[in-house]
Amino acid sequence: MQLTDRINRIQISPTAAVIAAADQLKAKGVDIADFGPGEPDFPTPDHIKQAAIKAINDNKTKYTATPGVMPLREAICAWHERELGSSYEPKECVTNVGGKHSIFNVISVLVQAGDEVIVPAPYWVSYPDIIKYTGATPVVVETRAEDGFAVRAADVAKAITPKTKLLILDSPSNPTGGVTPPEECAKLLDLCKKRNIWLMGDECYSHFTYGNNKPFSVASLPDSRNHVIIIGSMSKTFAMTGWRLGYTLAPAELITATVKLQSQSTSNPTSIAQYAALAAMTGPMDSVPAMLAEYARRRRRIVDGLNAIPGIQCGEPGGAFYVFPNVSASLGTGPNALAKDCSELATLLLEKAHVALVAGAAFGAPGYLRLSYATSIERIEEGLRRIEKFFSRAVAA
Ligand code: PLP
Repeated sequence: MQLTDRINRIQISPTAAVIAAADQLKAKGVDIADFGPGEPDFPTPDHIKQAAIKAINDNKTKYTATPGVMPLREAICAWHERELGSSYEPKECVTNVGGKHSIFNVISVLVQAGDEVIVPAPYWVSYPDIIKYTGATPVVVETRAEDGFAVRAADVAKAITPKTKLLILDSPSNPTGGVTPPEECAKLLDLCKKRNIWLMGDECYSHFTYGNNKPFSVASLPDSRNHVIIIGSMSKTFAMTGWRLGYTLAPAELITATVKLQSQSTSNPTSIAQYAALAAMTGPMDSVPAMLAEYARRRRRIVDGLNAIPGIQCGEPGGAFYVFPNVSASLGTGPNALAKDCSELATLLLEKAHVALVAGAAFGAPGYLRLSYATSIERIEEGLRRIEKFFSRAVAA
């Protein structure tokens, strides 16, 4: 079949591929310890579900304005100001069909062939492909495990060229859980201002931070307005992945361009999901610290459990709900090798140990694995037992 160059430039999301492979085994009755999906295992809070049911009963089931209903856009601006210290107006806010859609729209209206976008690695799988789809080029800047995978302005500066249009900052990060400290964010913003580059802050995991790390937005930095684009999502903060509701905050001119694109593609996000999101933005936030406390408990267990396994080295992530252990000591052709590379190791762990996780190569980080701990402590214990068994048996073999 003759397809376009642009569709041939991208691949199916590797995280979706892992989920599909695990699902196939589950369908055959295999019990999988599943560290694959980047999705909260908690239900959507009740007041949010009730708001959606009410929206249906009130017949709020028609098209809405393309950028979303005004009360929701007002509520997002107010929530973001209250929680993260920004100051946006509804004309600077558009709601989208999930944060991924927000990112797709923003990148589509800002870059094209000949442009470069700086993507810190390890990166969320979708950034490079969305960039390639527009014809622009992703330029990867490495972050370091020993630095908690923070994005450093000095490294970004070296990658800037006259073609650079945009820098993506994903903090806390998927896949590493790395947090870029506020003072470094300020340096990144200064750099972007000096070099006339947009700074896109992906805040999908903003409220899941541990220890001294606190929720932080680059939009709270002084004089950031004309250089910053904020991507937000209901998916993780409110356990609403299936509802598909994200948002973009940016200067009005940029928002208008993304609304134009949205008006010719999805139109408004689902009306019912918008009213659910309105309840999330205006209702009680107690589910968020409750989820965070549980994630913190799981993080402790999984970091300690992985580090107790010879051949695995796992740092302590500052946020999100992922660990990103280094398994390079168990790869290659040496006597301790379990697999030739991390992709083969992930496949073997799924097929032989019935543990689902994602190879670091998918995130631009060969030698690593990503495990999501958005699963119960019992399943984490079970998964750790299986990984331990797999590592020790194969090492001994
Ligand atoms: N950004 C990051 C870093 C993510 O990990 C995800 C989801 O996994 C998204 C954006 C998009 O989430 P959604 O489209 O569900 O809002």
